[in-house]
Amino acid sequence: MKDNLLVMKDLQNKLPNLSILLSEPLSKHTFIKTGGNGDIFIKPKDIHELQTIVKYVHTNEIPLTVLGKGTNVIIKDTGIRGVIVSLEKFNHISVNGREIHSGSGANIIDVSRTALSFGLTGLEFACGIPGTVGGALIMNAGAYGGEISEVLISSTIINGSGEIITLREGEFQFGYRNSVFAKENYIIVDAVFRLEEGDPEAIKAKMDENTFLRESKQPLEYPSCGSVFKRPPNYFAGKLIQDSGLQGTRIGGAEVSTKHAGFIVNVDNATSSDYLKLIKHVQKTVKEKFGVDLETEVKIIGDE
Ligand SMILES: Cc1cc2nc3c(=O)[nH]c(=O)nc-3n(C[C@H](O)[C@H](O)[C@H](O)COP(=O)(O)OP(=O)(O)OC[C@H]3O[C@@H](n4cnc5c(N)ncnc54)[C@H](O)[C@@H]3O)c2cc1C
Repeated sequence: MKDNLLVMKDLQNKLPNLSILLSEPLSKHTFIKTGGNGDIFIKPKDIHELQTIVKYVHTNEIPLTVLGKGTNVIIKDTGIRGVIVSLEKFNHISVNGREIHSGSGANIIDVSRTALSFGLTGLEFACGIPGTVGGALIMNAGAYGGEISEVLISSTIINGSGEIITLREGEFQFGYRNSVFAKENYIIVDAVFRLEEGDPEAIKAKMDENTFLRESKQPLEYPSCGSVFKRPPNYFAGKLIQDSGLQGTRIGGAEVSTKHAGFIVNVDNATSSDYLKLIKHVQKTVKEKFGVDLETEVKIIGDE
C-alpha cells in the first residue's frame, strides 16, 4: 500500500482545496469516545470530491471507511488503516411537497424535526436516533414501531469503483438492521423520504411520547453505542442479559448498563478493548445460561 504522505500529496494534487488530516484520533468521532487513530481522515465537501477520492482509492487498492456520527460503531484501539471519509458536510435538508431531500451527513433527528415543522408525518420514530441519514439507511434504523424502510423512496450512492447510481423503491433490500447499502458497501450520498400530510400537534405529541420513553429507559447520561446486540429470534437481548445477572458488570471503564441491559456504557475512560472484552463476556454468559447466540448490532471496525 502507498505511504500515507504520498496518498495525501496525490489527493491534494487532484483536489487542491481538500483538507486532509493524518493520524486523526477517531475517539473524537465515535459516540463512545473510544478508538485508535485513522491514517488519512478527509471531509469532502461535495459529490465531485467524494467521487474523486473513491476512484483514487479504488485504483490504488487503498481501504476506504465511511463514518457517520459514530453512534453505532466500535473502532478498535489500533485504529483504521487507509482513508476514512466523514460526510458531515453533506448535511443539507430541503422539503418539496411531501418529500424531504437530505444529504447523508444530515442528522436524522434534524430531518424528523423538519418533517414536524412542515406538518409531515412518518418520521416521528426517528426523533431520538442520534446518527446521520447515511447511518440510518445502512442500518435500516428503527424505533417505536417505525423504520427507515417505510419512508425512503430514493437514494444516490457511489459504488466501490466510483460510479454514481440512484436507487429507487424496490431496490433497497431492507431487512432487520440490514439493507442493500450495507450488503454492497455502497457510499450513501443522499436520500429522499416520502411522508404524509399530518396534524402538527399529533406529530409533536408522538415525538414527545417517544422522547419520554427513550429518556426513561435508556442511559442517555453516559456515552454508549445504543443497543449493542441484535434482537435474537423469539427473545429480547436486554431481557436475556438482565436475566443472566450481568447488569453492572464492568471491564475497565465499560459497564453493562444498570438502567437498560442492552446498552454498554462508558463510565470511566473505557477503551474499545474494554468494550470488546465485555461484549465477549456477555455473549459467553448468555450462551451458557440460555443457549442463545447474541449477534452484535453495533459495527466493530478497524485493523490490527
Ligand atoms: C443512545 C443511542 C440510541 C440509539 N437508538 C437507536 C434506535 O432507536 N434505533 C436504531 O435503529 N438505532 C439506534 N441507535 C444506533 C445508531 O444511532 C443508528 O444505527 C444510526 O443510524 C447510526 O448512524 P451513524 O451516522 O452514527 O452511523 P455510524 O455509527 O457512523 O456508522 C454505522 C455504519 O454505517 C456506515 N455508514 C455511515 N454513514 C455512511 C454513509 N453515508 N455511506 C455508507 N456507509 C455509511 C459506517 O461505515 C458504519 O458501518 C442508537 C445509538 C445510540 C448511541
